[in-house]
Amino acid sequence: MSTDATADVVVIGGGGAGLAAAVSAAEHGASVLLFEAEREIGGSTQLSAGMLTAAGTSVQAALGVEDSPQRFLQHYLDLNHWQLKPGLVKAFCRQAGAAVEWLIELGADIPAKFSHDAHTPGLTRAGVEDVWRGHVPKDQGYGLVQVLDRARRRAGAEAVLNTRVERLLVEHGRVTGVVADGVEVRAGAVVVASGGFAQDPALRSRYYPDADAAGEDLFVVAAPGSRGDHFAFGDQVDAAITGEGWGLLLPTAYFQRLHHWQSGFPPRSRVLVGSHGRRFMDEDASYAVSSGIISAQDGPVWMVFDDRARQGLPPGYAHWNAGHVRSEADSGRTLRAGTLEELAGKMAVPAAALQATVDRWNGQLPAGGEDTEFLRHESLAAKGATEPPTEIATAPFYAARTLPAELVCTHAGLEIDAGAAVLDALGNRVPGLFAAGEAGAGVLGLRYVGGGNAVANAVTMGRIAGRAAAAG
Ligand SMILES: Cc1cc2nc3c(=O)[nH]c(=O)nc-3n(C[C@H](O)[C@H](O)[C@H](O)COP(=O)(O)OP(=O)(O)OC[C@H]3O[C@@H](n4cnc5c(N)ncnc54)[C@H](O)[C@@H]3O)c2cc1C
Repeated sequence: MSTDATADVVVIGGGGAGLAAAVSAAEHGASVLLFEAEREIGGSTQLSAGMLTAAGTSVQAALGVEDSPQRFLQHYLDLNHWQLKPGLVKAFCRQAGAAVEWLIELGADIPAKFSHDAHTPGLTRAGVEDVWRGHVPKDQGYGLVQVLDRARRRAGAEAVLNTRVERLLVEHGRVTGVVADGVEVRAGAVVVASGGFAQDPALRSRYYPDADAAGEDLFVVAAPGSRGDHFAFGDQVDAAITGEGWGLLLPTAYFQRLHHWQSGFPPRSRVLVGSHGRRFMDEDASYAVSSGIISAQDGPVWMVFDDRARQGLPPGYAHWNAGHVRSEADSGRTLRAGTLEELAGKMAVPAAALQATVDRWNGQLPAGGEDTEFLRHESLAAKGATEPPTEIATAPFYAARTLPAELVCTHAGLEIDAGAAVLDALGNRVPGLFAAGEAGAGVLGLRYVGGGNAVANAVTMGRIAGRAAAAG
């Protein structure tokens, strides 16, 4: 990079939001310079399933799914208890469908077929959506990043890798560029798309203390670049911060240390029980809400399964495999007992309640019936399950502590308006500064709305930010 670089638009970060901003700014005639701190572009977006939640798309229409941005907005605000600004959320809900169409035009392959999971390309319902709204692209997050990066090249937006932006240039209250590698780069506008702060322990404690509740069991799957640099940029211009206390933690057994694609999946025949020894939720409830349900329990939550389930775990995964579970039990960290009564003693839950819970479970789904209390048969059917789960009846029995411990993304960041402009503490736009993705806050809220909330936010608000930044 030359020492007198300039660009109409500088983008900080090369994940979904940054790439979308770069492409969109270039499409609107701006010269663009994108800085990515890591050796390769992609960030968390590249690690993700790439699923996008969006309403009123051609994919939905081709499948006969009736949906609209207005319906999406209602669902979005209700799920978030109306704790978000409706104006911003409305812009997101209206533009998310357009962003999906844009991605398809750029080359994303989202086939018009129903998919029962977050990994099979098509239209899915991985969250708590009222209609099928999760758009899964071919090759997932990696594929999405490739599509956007190819579009970036075609549009002539330059990317500089391995270069972490250190600070903003600010003159008379206006952002006029950035400093990267000690070099000042002048720009008409700057888009902060530097992702979240999941990798920074101090910022986690300050802005998402729920993550600390997992203690030593916490593990972070967000990309290494999720260092929360946006807060320092925001400090320079007295930016308002919003979204404190919100993020996405997934529930896991304590021994899981990787995202489930690598760690593996717990056995289907399992029940989650609380300190009263009873079930309290649908074990297959969406990740959008399951952590909240678990956190609301008084005391530890246990995943109970039997040896048949352990032995049936498929090989090839790092943690959820028969050998690993056995070694966890040998170490005493996973509880193991020859009878449910003995297991209940180790779990410190009432033995009669645990026995009744397992008896009830065995008499329901494994016997071909329904889970009338928690409707788990519906969740399993939605996931495409064709066989009922088996009974929990083969000793030894196991109990593994389960808690929200896998940190996926964080929601606190620079407050933005419907045009992705960063707002200051007085609620005024900071001239020349835009933000999107996890760094630009106000769209991702208290509850994760459907599979694909965060990628849709990144691409949609990134696209809006790029267009607005190009306009100056
Ligand atoms: C394993 C996993 C699976 C997921 N699955 C899904 C899913 O299917 N659907 C969904 O909606 N969400 C999913 N998420 C969340 C989602 O991927 C992210 O919230 C979203 O992609 C964030 O996009 P972003 O552009 O804001 O950040 P990122 O994609 O993380 O990009 C930010 C980039 O900025 C760079 N950067 C940081 N600081 C600087 C700096 N100072 N200078 C230059 N560059 C910098 C980082 O290195 C990074 O590359 C998943 C996340 C993970 C980790």
